[in-house]
Amino acid sequence: MAAYHDEVEIEDFEYEEETETYYYPCPCGDRFQITKEELAAGEEVATCPSCSLIVKVIYDPEDFQPSEETACERTKGKTLVTA
Ligand SMILES: [Zn+2]
Repeated sequence: MAAYHDEVEIEDFEYEEETETYYYPCPCGDRFQITKEELAAGEEVATCPSCSLIVKVIYDPEDFQPSEETACERTKGKTLVTA
């Protein structure tokens, strides 16, 4: 089991829309980071690229699931391709 440096709520992360990544300051001066995609996949460990520390991200997985609207659009797309 990995030892978390800390547990941080997703609300405390800083979201960068351009990269779709959440950042949180690391004691080493760099930033822990985890992407929106990773969160949607159930990943809950944010890593720092400059050191070996990791933090556990506290979040509600449901907030990162594809919305029903998106799923609906995908289904529509498939239907269109099939038809
Ligand atoms: Zn670090």
